[in-house]
Amino acid sequence: MTTRLRFAPSPTGNLHVGNIRTALINYLFARQQGGEFMLRMDDTDIARSTDEYATGIEEDLRWLGLHWDLFAKQSARFDAYHAAAESLKASGRLYPCYETPEELELKRKVQLSRGLPPVYDREALNLTDAERAALETDGKRPHWRFKLTHEHVVWDDLVRGEVSVDTASVSDPILIREDGSLLYTLPSVVDDIEFGITHVVRGEDHVTNTAAQVQVFRALGGTPPTFAHHALLTGKGGEGLSKRLGSLSIRDLRADGLEPMAINALLARLGTSDPVEPFIDLEPLIGGLDFSRFGRAAAKFDPDELAAINAKIVHQLPFEAVSERVAGLTPDIWQAVRGNLEKVSDTNAWVTVVTGPIEPVREDFDFVEQAASLLPDAPWDEATWGAWTKAVKEATGRKGRELFLPLRQALTGLEHGPEMKLMLPLIGPDRARARLAGEVA
Ligand code: GLU
Repeated sequence: MTTRLRFAPSPTGNLHVGNIRTALINYLFARQQGGEFMLRMDDTDIARSTDEYATGIEEDLRWLGLHWDLFAKQSARFDAYHAAAESLKASGRLYPCYETPEELELKRKVQLSRGLPPVYDREALNLTDAERAALETDGKRPHWRFKLTHEHVVWDDLVRGEVSVDTASVSDPILIREDGSLLYTLPSVVDDIEFGITHVVRGEDHVTNTAAQVQVFRALGGTPPTFAHHALLTGKGGEGLSKRLGSLSIRDLRADGLEPMAINALLARLGTSDPVEPFIDLEPLIGGLDFSRFGRAAAKFDPDELAAINAKIVHQLPFEAVSERVAGLTPDIWQAVRGNLEKVSDTNAWVTVVTGPIEPVREDFDFVEQAASLLPDAPWDEATWGAWTKAVKEATGRKGRELFLPLRQALTGLEHGPEMKLMLPLIGPDRARARLAGEVA
């Protein structure tokens, strides 16, 4: 059987780092096993799902390099879900209930006040056909609950080890709402069976769902897949991430100039006992994924850690990876500046420093003037800066910061930057002389 995993977002918002962590783990495991990765749009909630969000999800995944082999959208598959619902009704596993939300809330309160768990009491199962008919005549529409078998549902979770859920402590889940719309539980199982999903990797907020879904799989004649429930991602201080947490959406991180591999490299390792490493492609993450190294504690996402890993990745990128992204960039400039960058977009400012025009900063007029007179003749290379500053040092007696800083400021307009031995030959004799003379060049 082909190993097949799926990422199943609802297109009701932009993807954030929490969703992407789930997508990434599914993707990496599928690739590691030589299997397939499916993108499934869970868009049964017609009112909240939009095409824009769906397109955005696809764009984000492509940008991250998480390419899918199969695609499905649930809104095109209602017939299959209704057929499954009918078969569950026929086998007595799906039953109609007529309680209003207020009545259910009252039941809950009474149970809680008696110290009982707030589990649905299955009162609707006692309705006679005549009572149901009377309710329907009154204009009441049912919602439909899946009748759980009370047992301990046990599975061997790839992250959590053996998990056991006592379904007697869980309310029979509603699969179909009063207006006929479907909750996520049933369509997801129908699709997982239909598409031969072998592994379901998702957040631990789904553990209770899983117990019910295991029974739905069996009730529909399917075999439950292997499950892995990873701990959730939280903010730096432990606060939950929500889909609406815009600042951590993949869109915004992309607009902010971060590298897709920085996001992948961090999210693949966050919450595991493996170190976060600045990989520039997905291969080592595919090879290294190991569920036994995933921790049970929430994984904390820190934007500063993302910025740091981004810088380490940028420092390694070859010219070809960035040449299209920065106007006027040459291999020599990239070689000189990449070690100084936090983001690729910072390169633009360094291209301008090399090619001009910039406003030189001359704080020490006489000294800079004297240094200019000692500039070696062309051609210049990486040895020129050393030879020149040695001559300036001998002529002026200056050393260290006093020697180097005024020259850097006059040549680049800045106090800090890439190594001057690389920058000077790129700036070249004409611009260097002009800048040392105080001209905008
Ligand atoms: N659409 C569901 C969600 O976003 C998918 C959960 C699952 O992976 O089964 O929570």
